[in-house]
Amino acid sequence: MNIGFIGLGKMGANMLQHLIPKAASLWIFDVNPTFKNIKYPDNVHFANSNIEVAQNAEIVFLMLPNSKIVEDVILGDTGLIQALAPNSIIVDMSSSYYFSTLSIHQQLLAKNITLIDAPVSGGVIGAKEGKLTFMVGHYDAHQQKIEPLLEALATHIFVIGKVGGGHAIKALNNFLSASSLLATTEAMNIIKQLEIDETNAIEVFNKSSGRSFSTELKFPKYILSETYNSGFDLALLSKDVTVAHDIIKELGIQLNVLPLLDEIYKDGIMKIGYAADHTEISKYYNVSQYSQANSL
Ligand code: NAD
Repeated sequence: MNIGFIGLGKMGANMLQHLIPKAASLWIFDVNPTFKNIKYPDNVHFANSNIEVAQNAEIVFLMLPNSKIVEDVILGDTGLIQALAPNSIIVDMSSSYYFSTLSIHQQLLAKNITLIDAPVSGGVIGAKEGKLTFMVGHYDAHQQKIEPLLEALATHIFVIGKVGGGHAIKALNNFLSASSLLATTEAMNIIKQLEIDETNAIEVFNKSSGRSFSTELKFPKYILSETYNSGFDLALLSKDVTVAHDIIKELGIQLNVLPLLDEIYKDGIMKIGYAADHTEISKYYNVSQYSQANSL
């Protein structure tokens, strides 16, 4: 198969490595020109544009920052839709916006192109080791073609059974992850005030019902060690919380925790910048400034 891959950032560059042995030829592209100067194996070609990827591949994987960029890469004046052949498949592995995915899917159907939403969890380490979890919205009629490629990247593949379902679940998963990070930050602030040993407290949580990905991985590995190098930007986690918030707005649902969390993460970006690692939010987050903000 001739495969395309667009978006060679912290996740994409690592995921690409696992697809190289699976493809007759791999056409790759990123707007960042530094990726052009890397020495790739013989079956990998750095394209000059997204269009050139579309001209040469029948399946194109995307690993891009957000839906606005995904829309541009697929539907824009120089987008994939201009050159992909009928029966081609686009697999959007980015954490994209549910309603945008539905709209792109409809527009591609008119050209007989399938959009599969297949976002991932597992971070840069999972991407490097080929141990990601996939949340596949649907395969349409293409499971036999696509699943073996995803298996090269993952240990778990879940099929939700609905177009956009993967992107919806991913946003909600990251809402849960973002909330446990802040809740653990609040708990650890109290632990500090009480002069209790922080490492000891994390060990207790990890053997008790308060455990989460934040207590098991983020606090010991990135926060207590003060390395803050998880490889997942604050801007991307904040985007995921906003995507989840936008879904409930669109549905007309009133909730408490999600809007507050969205506000706190956006404020985090204002204070420490888009490029900060998401774990750095625990450094700046000051509980008292939000105590009056909302009644939970
Ligand atoms: P990143 O910013 O490191 O990489 C994105 C890449 O896309 C960059 O190299 C950028 O140059 C490229 N790009 C931007 N616009 C482009 C365009 N128009 N055409 C071609 N390339 C373009 O981001 P990342 O951390 O690799 O995350 C990618 C996606 O995966 C995001 O949607 C993110 O939310 C999701 N995700 C990230 C992680 C993580 O731990 N980093 C984990 C799970 C999911």
